[in-house]
Amino acid sequence: MSQHLQALQTHLAEISHLRAATALLEWDMQVNMPPKGAAARGEQMATLVRMMHEMFTSDQTARLLDSAETETQTQPYESDAASLVRVVRHDYAEATRLPAAFVAESSQVFTAAHEVWANARAKDDFASFEPTLTHIIDLTRRRADYLSYSEHPYDALLNEFERDMTTAQVKAIFDGHRPELVALLEAISANTDRVDASILHQPFDVNAQRDFAAWVVTQFGFDFERGRHDVAVHPFASGTSRNDVRLTNRYAPDFFNTSLFGMMHEAGHGMYEQGSAPALEYTPLAGGSSLGVHESQSRMWENLVGRSQGFWQWALPELQKRFPAQFGKASLETVYTAFNKVQPSFIRVEADEATYNLHIMMRFELETALLNGELQAAQLPQAWNDRCEAYLGIVPPDNRQGVLQDVHWSAGLIGYFPTYALGNLLAVQYYEAAVAAVPSIPADIAQGNFNPLLTWLNHNIHQHGRKFTMNELTQQVTGTSIDAAPYMRYLQTKFGALYGV
Ligand code: ZN
Repeated sequence: MSQHLQALQTHLAEISHLRAATALLEWDMQVNMPPKGAAARGEQMATLVRMMHEMFTSDQTARLLDSAETETQTQPYESDAASLVRVVRHDYAEATRLPAAFVAESSQVFTAAHEVWANARAKDDFASFEPTLTHIIDLTRRRADYLSYSEHPYDALLNEFERDMTTAQVKAIFDGHRPELVALLEAISANTDRVDASILHQPFDVNAQRDFAAWVVTQFGFDFERGRHDVAVHPFASGTSRNDVRLTNRYAPDFFNTSLFGMMHEAGHGMYEQGSAPALEYTPLAGGSSLGVHESQSRMWENLVGRSQGFWQWALPELQKRFPAQFGKASLETVYTAFNKVQPSFIRVEADEATYNLHIMMRFELETALLNGELQAAQLPQAWNDRCEAYLGIVPPDNRQGVLQDVHWSAGLIGYFPTYALGNLLAVQYYEAAVAAVPSIPADIAQGNFNPLLTWLNHNIHQHGRKFTMNELTQQVTGTSIDAAPYMRYLQTKFGALYGV
């Protein structure tokens, strides 16, 4: 009856196996591979990526899609079958817009650019990166032209990470809450000595940190029978299947937050992947809706759960048992406030909840200006520092801690940054929806019972995989669109109490 749909699924499963193999090679590269393996690994991965692209953009995919569509036309929008055809049709249209030669040229430029950027950052020498960055911006403009857009070239790029969001929408959301964020930060800065985080800056045994972080995320519900964790320089979550989800983390011997909150964050991504419905395995619907929705899950577990007073009410005795010398005499007040210290800082990945979105807004404004030619690469360091001062009240002493800090631009990832900030907004909206549906969730968390929250997330978000766009999912879950108001309310309530502002 559904033989055409089956044929499409078989074809997509083969592509999905190649994708899983590529992900495993990538994970291995970050976790295990000796340094001199990089060149060979690059070629191995490029071959797999080319095979995937060729298989997916082939006429065979188009034929199978046409046939399958005749069988799914009468199926409900939210059914697995109709969703598969709808999402694959969209992916196919996008993938076939980029000529293979352009994809190959871009990938060569990005591979070489990584080293140029890394050297420039190491030597704090922006000028040596500038020609490469100019080339990447040119390529990115061409990419936007191939992908097509109606208003702003940035729309085409954003659409690759956050479908259906436009530059104008992101700008409206950011402009809408930036003044309030800046004002909140200024008020906090006047009372900064109310919170002392020195307890977190002590020597901590790295193995004990690792065990504690793993224990916490096991309690959250990350399933180590279907996942694992390892060390990597830049933490990430990946995997080959909902039953093989890989978390990575890094450890600082003298700062407690790095590994613990990094682990909570990556486990949030990992539980999303583990919760994707079994029926979606081996299809492009497996995994998460969008980068913003994915980030909402990591941020929710890291911040709304992991930095909440209720969580520490429950976790403090375990923390004290495992780290008696450092936390044995600490009160709940001391640890809860320390974990929530607000401090404007130069490095985005180390930013606290109150300052994080300001880091993203800077990058978004610079990226859109670079793309439409209002800003040249050579002007970036000054433009960066000006915004840093206006939004965070501080100026980076060098470009390493400023414009050169992030890897994204060297990898051609322009249009990606906004998803981090959108994830913060969505985390609060989804959490509030969960609590509205299951009011006991905060009290359950304070008892160490995370199952009601995870079950709600599984049912309302995780199981759907990529079936729905962020806008569709957000409407379903919250009855409204993405909105910064709940996020600002949450920050003002939490940090207002902490800092007396
Ligand atoms: Zn993340």
